[in-house]
Amino acid sequence: MKSLKHVVIFLVLLGTAPSKILWAQSGKESVTNIKRPGLKELNKFYISNKKPLQPLSFIKLPVGSIKPEGWILKFLELQRDGLTGQLSNISAWLDKKNNAWFSGNGKGDHGWEEVPYWLKGYGNLGYVLKDEKIITETKLWLDKVFESQEADGYFGPRIVENEHQDNKGNTPDLWPNMLMLWCMQSYYEYSNDTRVIPFMIKYFKWQMTVPDEKLLKIYWENSRGGDNLYSIYWLYNRTGEKWLLDLANKIHRNTADWTQKNNLPNWHNVNIAQCFREPATYYMQAKDSSFLNATYNDFYLVRSLYGQVPGGMFGADENARKGFDDPRQAVETCGMVEQMASDEILTGITGDPMWADHCEDVAFNTYPAAVMPDFKGLRYLTAPNMVVSDTRNHAPGIQNEGPFLMMNPFSSRCCQHNHSMGWPYYAEHLWMATPDNGIAAMLYSSSEVSAKVGNGNMVTLKQTTHYPFDENISIEVNTTTAVNFPLYLRIPNWCSNAKLMVNGVEKSMPFEAGSYARIERKWKQADVVELVLPMKLKKDIWDKNKNSVSINYGPLTFSLKIDETYKQMDSKKSAIGDSKWQENSDQSKWPSYEIYPASMWNYGLVLNEQPLESQFKIIKRSWPENNFPFTQDAVPFILKAKGKIIPEWILDKNGLCDVLPQSPVTVSTKEQPIELIPMGAARLRIASFPVVK
Ligand SMILES: [Zn+2]
Repeated sequence: MKSLKHVVIFLVLLGTAPSKILWAQSGKESVTNIKRPGLKELNKFYISNKKPLQPLSFIKLPVGSIKPEGWILKFLELQRDGLTGQLSNISAWLDKKNNAWFSGNGKGDHGWEEVPYWLKGYGNLGYVLKDEKIITETKLWLDKVFESQEADGYFGPRIVENEHQDNKGNTPDLWPNMLMLWCMQSYYEYSNDTRVIPFMIKYFKWQMTVPDEKLLKIYWENSRGGDNLYSIYWLYNRTGEKWLLDLANKIHRNTADWTQKNNLPNWHNVNIAQCFREPATYYMQAKDSSFLNATYNDFYLVRSLYGQVPGGMFGADENARKGFDDPRQAVETCGMVEQMASDEILTGITGDPMWADHCEDVAFNTYPAAVMPDFKGLRYLTAPNMVVSDTRNHAPGIQNEGPFLMMNPFSSRCCQHNHSMGWPYYAEHLWMATPDNGIAAMLYSSSEVSAKVGNGNMVTLKQTTHYPFDENISIEVNTTTAVNFPLYLRIPNWCSNAKLMVNGVEKSMPFEAGSYARIERKWKQADVVELVLPMKLKKDIWDKNKNSVSINYGPLTFSLKIDETYKQMDSKKSAIGDSKWQENSDQSKWPSYEIYPASMWNYGLVLNEQPLESQFKIIKRSWPENNFPFTQDAVPFILKAKGKIIPEWILDKNGLCDVLPQSPVTVSTKEQPIELIPMGAARLRIASFPVVK
């Protein structure tokens, strides 16, 4: 009301009747609730899809535009001081001596995926944190990659797997190069280094010369051609060279077919999480909605068969296997971070808020539990129901044979390197640009974004929140001059009755779950937007998994709090068979851990038909001083509930918690108080509960 009063006074002083223009200039505001942003305009300041590609709904800001704060910043700092930042002192693949990625001519050892997997996240960690040491180190590697480009345009090592292909011409495996292209794209966004564009053009010209029958024939590159495709569009949007679209067609037609009806080309967990987005990526060029639908179909297919579990992922403890769909089946850490990256990209392509919701689901409930609280170790596999994390071989209960469940910084070769992009990419997508020259708050976290909006004014928006541990989000505008632009706020699918206030004035309109609030007004210095996303207890029933239940509160899902005993192990002795480390790496500084339960885990939940609020007591605790909520001790709230031991539900012969009993389970044990904690903070967990009578 304050601004309206100002307008009236202003008009009286001018002695003129209100006109549309005056109203607009004086702070008229439009608040709407929309399903998707309009696509008629093209953002003037940030590179989006160039015609004839389908316009993007949301546009990624260049790396460095967003300054994360709060617990995301803490996670990034832990990564920097922990495994991501220090891995080059441990991993044999990152040893610069005789390294095929560091020789400048592609010759040497370790020329496959490990270096670019690591560098992809390590570099972005540096750009996001503006950490000069990391940025300088990244550039050392990238300089060698530039140097390695050959006259024909090929760069990097030549890994040739003839046994996998009918390939007399020895076309190298292009999978590691796909990763290195992503490193180059981020580096360019950060630095504008003029070498990047010609380097990519030259490489893609070389790809044009490879005949179809020799292109992308090896398993990994064949599955993952969508990453190559995405880089081609990235470059096309910067150069507009039409032949790149011909190459895109060629890459698409030689990539595994992810558009099959009710089937996937393969059922490898990382491939699924990464490659299901290939059809949606190609849709940008083909503009045929069947491609977009294929991505949705793949997503729902794997979740209907193997993902009837909490935490956003699915059971595929290497590959998804028929008959192995209980929540004790695990997923790889690589699968989690690839899924998050896919969700972020699909948010941009489709504008569908469900992808951002899903990204948060994996980020809050699954990924944090895959790493040690100090980020100095991770495990290959994590499951929604996981009551032991040890060196034992659990095959065939899980598919992989070996110590795949323990936390070990020397182990889990692919995840050990690939995990690095998880939080940096997430931090880069907290805010996105919109086609109508505005900004969208996409993934909620304390942070600051500086971006060009409206007619080109640079504004900074500061978001303050403890989300997802708090339902209140505040955004303050920092601008040198008043500027008109739309601000979008994502309303998650789990949230009804979102409340929005601008400078303390409530906007009394219903905001639908799974939509966006769009506020267009002339924003001034210190304007404040407050968003409340009311969180409620909600029960998921997994009828395909024995009628088990999961308990959610807003975007968080809860696990039984199991007392965890950490047993220190020798990282070298307990590593998975394909691990390699540098000779002088010191395992005493980098211990591995087994985690054992020190309390009972085989509880069923006591539930009745009454409202959940009457059956669970929410205990809120103070925010942890170190800003890190993903440990049992620090987690900002817990649920008090009631459970009963199910005596028959024990470890099976493979040392995994046995498959869920059919609910409701009749037991004669006594009802007991139990505590639940957010499952992201539970490294041992039961998050799909049987229900007891
Ligand atoms: Zn992995």
